[in-house]
Amino acid sequence: MQNQFKPLLIANWKMNPSKEDALELIARLNTLSYNDVKLIICPPATLIDPIASVINENILLGAQDCSIHGDNYGAFTGELSAYMLKSIGASYVILGHSERRLYHKETNEIVKIKASNAHAVGLNTIICVGEPIEAKQNKYTLDYIKEQIINSIPDSANPNNTIIAYEPIWAIGSGKIPEFLEISDVHQYVSELINKNFSNMSVSFENKFKVVYGGSVKSENASKILALDSVKGLLIGGASLVIDQISKIIISANESNKFK
Ligand code: PEP
Repeated sequence: MQNQFKPLLIANWKMNPSKEDALELIARLNTLSYNDVKLIICPPATLIDPIASVINENILLGAQDCSIHGDNYGAFTGELSAYMLKSIGASYVILGHSERRLYHKETNEIVKIKASNAHAVGLNTIICVGEPIEAKQNKYTLDYIKEQIINSIPDSANPNNTIIAYEPIWAIGSGKIPEFLEISDVHQYVSELINKNFSNMSVSFENKFKVVYGGSVKSENASKILALDSVKGLLIGGASLVIDQISKIIISANESNKFK
């Protein structure tokens, strides 16, 4: 019999909130029932340490970026090494988010180096890919994503240390999401591509890269997206900061029994 697993939920808090509000949100999140759902909260780096000491065992922590410099410490003003993030309680790091690609000029090559640095110190990576609206309109979404995957994922990636987040750029923060069939098709494509190119271990059913969906996930659409076979979890931005929204999304994930 195939193993069942609960979807992964990744909360991207971006440059929010205050420490006080964060601790209040965590206090509420600690009281929810998780039933094996894994919630990975990615707060601003300054909040990782204070949150690490108050989360319960259902909640894990991630950073939203790490340095391109592979050293643990050094003369790199303003940088935070993967090692430093791990040492204060992060076990994941989001890399290649479209906001970093856009506002901080991060290329696939930069994402690849950062991911390799993260893996070197034992941090798991959540690598984001996704097309701009022009690619969708001109029907080259899959080619766009292929280029991102081939060029931003390091050889150190494997299904145990890397999650792929498919986030259409036009869906992030816009309230729009793709058709469910489109989400399914892209996830299927990404999953086949990455498992073919990067699985250096035998690709058994339970040992495949997991692909999660992100972009305007809300409590109103979460269960429908999670019901799609190829979707192994959700990356949630704005709604992850609203207790009523994230609680309902956790309930949807709780109720969704999926096969590995
Ligand atoms: C994100 O920033 O990764 C994201 C998915 O944001 P939102 O859920 O707000 O669209």
